[in-house]
Amino acid sequence: MEEKEFSEEIKEQALKRANYRCERCWSRENLRLRAIDENSEYTLDNCVVLCESCYEKAPQDPFLFKNLFLRFASPKEMMSFYNVENEEEALRLFCEENGIEYERLKSSGERLSRSFAIKQGMEKSVEKRGHAGFNIPYGYDYKDGELKINDDEAKTVKNIYSWYISGKGLGEIAKMLNSAKVPTKRGGFWAKKTISSILKNPVYCGYFRWENKITKSRHQSIIDEETFKKVQKIIEQRGGKSSIFDF
Ligand SMILES: [Zn+2]
Repeated sequence: MEEKEFSEEIKEQALKRANYRCERCWSRENLRLRAIDENSEYTLDNCVVLCESCYEKAPQDPFLFKNLFLRFASPKEMMSFYNVENEEEALRLFCEENGIEYERLKSSGERLSRSFAIKQGMEKSVEKRGHAGFNIPYGYDYKDGELKINDDEAKTVKNIYSWYISGKGLGEIAKMLNSAKVPTKRGGFWAKKTISSILKNPVYCGYFRWENKITKSRHQSIIDEETFKKVQKIIEQRGGKSSIFDF
């Protein structure tokens, strides 16, 4: 992408909007324009002002660019957002939250590593766990390269959905699971954020989300589509941000 593809007018407007700073790290040095989605029209909405250093590190993938790179200016920021100690863990939560298939993320690993220096960590994690994926959603196991339903966990997923539909809040559900001593995937405690990411993850009705597109996957669903959609509506009614899901 060349800077010259944006018109002078858009360039001026973008710089003004950004207050003549990098829209990611606030640097004032060597500012350049970059399109969020290089295949879309070069409008102001599709334009981000970056410093040279951020520009060089930015991933090509529009979804990662927008939702990971622009959202977190550093791995440290991402770790602090997800309240975890290491990058892999943060990235795993990012995947869970966004319903991203690990393989797809890994294919973006090259660019991502330059942004976040995570490639090595990801590879180590694969080695340690003996399977290609730290993004195994609660309710599933990863066997023979596929997501297979974990019966105990799937039961909990179903409970979470039906409790939420019956009017229980995220905190209430987390409390119920904690007092019933139901383990999480990593043996920790249930938090509102965990419940919310389960309620929004289209993986449970048989889909994967990638680059804001929902694609049907071969894995077995735990929740039917109708229930999933119903839950997204309730999330919105209660003032939350639901999963983008219009299929
Ligand atoms: Zn920058």
